[in-house]
Amino acid sequence: MSHVTVVGGGLAGCEAAWQLARRNIQVTLVEMRPEEMAPAHGTDLLAELVCSNSLKSTDMGTPAGLLKAELAALDSLILEAARASSVPAGSALAVDRIRFARLVTQRIAEHPNIEVVCRRQDRLPDPPAILATGPLTSGDLAKALAEAAGRPLTFYDAIAPIVDADSIDWDHAFVASRWENATSKPANTPDPTRFGFPAMATSKGDYVNCPMDRGQYEAFVDALLSASQVQAHEFEDARYFESCLPIEVMARRGLDVLRHGPMRPIGIQDPATGKRPYAVVQLRLENSHKTAYNMVGFQTRLRYGEQTRIFRMIPGLGDANFLRYGSIHRNSYLNAPACLNARFELDKAPGIRVAGLLAGVEGYMESTAMGLLAGLLLAADLTGANLDPPPQTTALGALHTYLQRDRGGAFIPTNMNMSLFPPLDVEERMSKKERRLRTARRALDDLLLWKA
Ligand SMILES: Cc1cc2nc3c(=O)[nH]c(=O)nc-3n(C[C@H](O)[C@H](O)[C@H](O)COP(=O)(O)OP(=O)(O)OC[C@H]3O[C@@H](n4cnc5c(N)ncnc54)[C@H](O)[C@@H]3O)c2cc1C
Repeated sequence: MSHVTVVGGGLAGCEAAWQLARRNIQVTLVEMRPEEMAPAHGTDLLAELVCSNSLKSTDMGTPAGLLKAELAALDSLILEAARASSVPAGSALAVDRIRFARLVTQRIAEHPNIEVVCRRQDRLPDPPAILATGPLTSGDLAKALAEAAGRPLTFYDAIAPIVDADSIDWDHAFVASRWENATSKPANTPDPTRFGFPAMATSKGDYVNCPMDRGQYEAFVDALLSASQVQAHEFEDARYFESCLPIEVMARRGLDVLRHGPMRPIGIQDPATGKRPYAVVQLRLENSHKTAYNMVGFQTRLRYGEQTRIFRMIPGLGDANFLRYGSIHRNSYLNAPACLNARFELDKAPGIRVAGLLAGVEGYMESTAMGLLAGLLLAADLTGANLDPPPQTTALGALHTYLQRDRGGAFIPTNMNMSLFPPLDVEERMSKKERRLRTARRALDDLLLWKA
């Protein structure tokens, strides 16, 4: 019987251990709590949720709901426990966190193929192994992993919001790089690709500009100054990299700081006025499908509701749909495209695989999904089964593809969102709801084919 060591009894580690054990592989699951507590954790239970008790939507027409449907199809332990411990939360799946963690702990403890060992792992385990020690991976292990990966783990990721391309109001936004002529996007033609929209995110002219006049800019800065933001945890010192300051911190440093920083209008000409705007918010293509844009330099610690309210003050974003919100927190993760192969294995330490948030995803269910997939792929490799990673059209495959994409050194973890899926192969126009439902149907069909 094969044996695997899984380090980290969080969401990803428990899910990976479960999937391996169900395939008749012996697992030692190493978890340091309660001998040593992780900074954000407070119990001795496996699969502790460190913050919110919501696992997001169950609506199949949302990326989060679709991911859950796929996890259910693959017999996820974490999803099963979440359903069994759910509390009413509308269309979201929220859990009684203690009941949830107890259920997972009990199922893992009862499985005859899993042994739980309580100790802190300080060096890389013997292969085959999966490391799933999460965003707060303890010191020596983090160092050992960074050495094995050949590059440091990234801390303090600063994440800017991502906007759905379809929700941009082209009456108030235009395409231009600095020092280039602007291309107005005619109204009533929401397909950006039809008007000479740039093909590659790295080429010039790839920016959408949302121009502001003085009144709009000052109202925007005022709103930032009075906005409510997420408080730093005790283990997070609130020092930021100067090159990566949250916009609300910049706003507090002075009225013009943003206008001289990420919102500088130099080299931009507004086609509506023929003049340089007072300030500008720039959006950069996020994906090759041109369905999503990143708000350049807009890393923020504002609460999600505040981000929606305040960023919708930006001309062109009045009805913006945010596919991902901005955030900043301490977060150890690997630059996955640079050091993990398609089976989650470290290029420089064969036999050591990395799963969960540490592998470059963000969110409870995303971490679970990457634990599940790492477990399935390792089980297949150990039992001689032929299993490729799932296609990008599935939610699992879309996350996996993101971790494999070469990003030229810059990499930030992703949550599950629509920009990760390839567009539907259809010409006809359809509503956003219909597009999402068809994407979901395609995903589940493809997942079942992959699973078969
Ligand atoms: C402060 C904070 C708040 C977050 N809030 C949310 C949220 O509200 N919603 C959301 O969707 N996502 C949130 N996330 C992001 C992410 O979804 C969670 O961190 C998620 O729990 C990651 O799952 P994981 O299995 O990869 O890691 P974890 O769930 O963190 O599991 C890792 C486990 O490894 C153990 N461990 C660490 N080092 C060692 C070691 N050396 N030896 C043995 N065991 C070790 C830890 O004790 C822990 O049990 C948050 C992250 C942080 C840091």
